[in-house]
Amino acid sequence: MSLTCFITPTARAKMALVDGYGRTIDYVRLAVTDRCNLRCTYCMPKDGIDFVPRTELLSYEEMLRLLKIFKSLGVTKLRITGGEPLVRKGVIDFLKEINNQGVMEGFHLTTNATMTYPHIDELLNAGLLSVNVSIDTLDRRRFTEITRRDKLETVLESIDAFYAKNVPVKLNMVVMKDCNEQDILPMAYLAQDKNIGIRYLEEMPFNGTGKAKPSFFTHHDIKKILTDAIPDMKAMPFEQGTTSQNYTVPTWKGNLGIIASYSRTFCGSCNRLRVTPKGNLKTCLYSKSSLNLKTLLRNGSSDIEIAQHIEQAVQNKAKTGFEAERELFNGITESMAEIGG
Ligand code: SAM
Ligand code: SF4
Repeated sequence: MSLTCFITPTARAKMALVDGYGRTIDYVRLAVTDRCNLRCTYCMPKDGIDFVPRTELLSYEEMLRLLKIFKSLGVTKLRITGGEPLVRKGVIDFLKEINNQGVMEGFHLTTNATMTYPHIDELLNAGLLSVNVSIDTLDRRRFTEITRRDKLETVLESIDAFYAKNVPVKLNMVVMKDCNEQDILPMAYLAQDKNIGIRYLEEMPFNGTGKAKPSFFTHHDIKKILTDAIPDMKAMPFEQGTTSQNYTVPTWKGNLGIIASYSRTFCGSCNRLRVTPKGNLKTCLYSKSSLNLKTLLRNGSSDIEIAQHIEQAVQNKAKTGFEAERELFNGITESMAEIGG
C-alpha cells in the first residue's frame, strides 16, 4: 500500500508529483473537447471522424474536481486545449468557475482563434494568462487548404485583439514538408515589430488516419531556413519544463522558437500530464492512456484514491517519448484533437 494513504489532505497539499526519473510534474494540459470547427490536414481527416459522444466527455463538474486533486498534488500550471476549446458550450463559465473557486492561479489557452474575438474580455476576467494560437501560414489560400476552412481574417483579427490587450501571445506553426516551408520567414518577421513568440513545430503523425508521412521537416531543416535568412539570431538558454529552443534577434521585439515535437529532444525535463476529453490520463503525448480517470470519478472513488492512482501513473511515466511509443500496439492512430497537443 502506498504511504500516501496515511497522509492528511493538508500534508498532501505540500506534496509534489515526482516521476520515476526524478522529474517534477507540475503542469496539466486539459483537453475539454475533441470537436473542432476546423479540419487541419495534420490533425484530422476531412470527414468520417467519430467524435466522442457527449456522455463520454468529462463533465465540467468532473473536470473541476480533477483540477482540485491535481492542485493537491502540486500541479500549478493549467493549459486549456482541445479540439477547439471554444467549441464546447459553457466553457467560459467553466473557466470562470475555476477562477471563482481559486482552483488554479489562472490558465493558459491553446486555440485556433476563430471564435475567441468576442470573448477576450471574458477570458481575461476568468484568468487567462497567455494564449497560443495555431496559425500555419499568412497566405489565405494556403490557410484554407491547410485548415479546410476560410478563416484567416478572423484568426488575424483575434491575434491583434489579444496583443492589443497585452495578453502574451505565441503563434504555433506546424511546418509541413512541401506545404508551408515558404511561410517560415513571413511568420518569423511578425516578431520583428511585435513582442510575440513564433513557435515552429515539427509535424507529428497524430492526424487521425493511422498513417505517418514518409518524411517530415525536422527542427534542423527549420533552423537552417531561419539562420540562412537571419544570421544574427542567438539561442537563448533552454528553459526546463519547456519544449521550445528559443532564439532572440537583436532589435526584434519578439522571439522565435523551434519545437522538436517529433524528434523529441526535450523529454529529459518533461513536467507535464495530459487529460483527454474522455478523461484518460496520458503521462506522455506518445503513450497509451495510463489511467481512466472518468471511471474513477464515476465509480465512487474518493479524492485520495484518485490522487493515489495519479501518483502511481506518474511513477510509471516513460523516460522518453520514444520509449512510450514502443508500448503502442498499433502505432499512432489518434488525432491530436483527441489528446490536446
Ligand atoms: N484547436 C486548438 C489549436 O489548434 O490550437 C487546440 C488543440 S490543437 C490539437 C493543439 C496544438 O496541436 C496546435 O498548436 C496544433 O497546431 C498542434 N497539432 C495538431 N496536430 C498536430 C500534428 N500532427 N503535429 C504537430 N502539431 C500538431
Ligand atoms: Fe482543430 Fe486545432 Fe486540430 Fe486544427 S489543430 S483541426 S484547429 S483541433
